[in-house]
Amino acid sequence: MDCLFCKIINGEIPSTKVYEDDMILAFRDIDPQAPEHVIIIPKNHISSANEINTENSKYISHIFEKIPYIAAMLNIDEHGYRIVNNCGKNGGQTVPHMHFHLMGGRGFAWPAG
Ligand code: 5GP
Ligand code: ZN
Repeated sequence: MDCLFCKIINGEIPSTKVYEDDMILAFRDIDPQAPEHVIIIPKNHISSANEINTENSKYISHIFEKIPYIAAMLNIDEHGYRIVNNCGKNGGQTVPHMHFHLMGGRGFAWPAG
């Protein structure tokens, strides 16, 4: 499949990995928006949040089970962090393999623009 993040999963495109197991991969964003900015993806191709269903939701729950561990690894657990999913055109999604941005090391305003 011609998918950037699938290529990162299978090693065709290099990435700086911060966590990996059989279901998910976390790697540093190439254009970080915060001192710590990691992309967390399911290892099966889910195009966007619109495609989450009972068959694949275990990948999503697994991501959230591991976020505390990844945040602790990045040393952003104590001060907190932002988790973002962009879905589709209006959501600002640019890579059509569902992912969460985990960002920390600075504060974020809310509401966001
Ligand atoms: P989206 O806009 O789809 O929510 O987020 C896509 C993210 O992937 C962006 O933050 C962008 O910087 C990141 N990104 C795009 N291409 C690459 C790449 O080849 N390697 C890495 N590590 N990140 C990428
Ligand atoms: Zn993919």
